[in-house]
Amino acid sequence: MIESSIVLYEHKHGNIEIVTVDLGGPATVEFDFFKMWEFKKRLGEKFDPKAFRFYHVHPSGLLAYSETDLNCVKGFSLAFGRDVWYFSIITFDSSDINDIAHKQISYTYENGALREFLKFGLDKHHLLLLKVLSYGNVMGDK
Ligand SMILES: [Zn+2]
Repeated sequence: MIESSIVLYEHKHGNIEIVTVDLGGPATVEFDFFKMWEFKKRLGEKFDPKAFRFYHVHPSGLLAYSETDLNCVKGFSLAFGRDVWYFSIITFDSSDINDIAHKQISYTYENGALREFLKFGLDKHHLLLLKVLSYGNVMGDK
């Protein structure tokens, strides 16, 4: 499987927009910082880094953040100038492409550490997108 990711942004009026959808490697997640930065520029004064929601897929059984994840969150916090973040990890229960049964753990980042936080679920379309990217062999990966 591949660690796919999605970054959402919750606008003040409650509308949720996809900022970027990305593929990492077999054991590494990637978020497209350039797209997030472009998004920030587009929103201008209205932009609030706290409204970003990061989600990415881990292999089944690895429902916890990694050292790489923590470094990633630290980097984005520095870049956007505010260190409160919503960061979630999803693991799918099976490799069946049609099955979106999953587990989720969510964190918020404060004072240099991730601590467990409320789970804001993804809707089924976003889950299916992550499932296909991670398990659908879209990059010819086995
Ligand atoms: Zn991760």
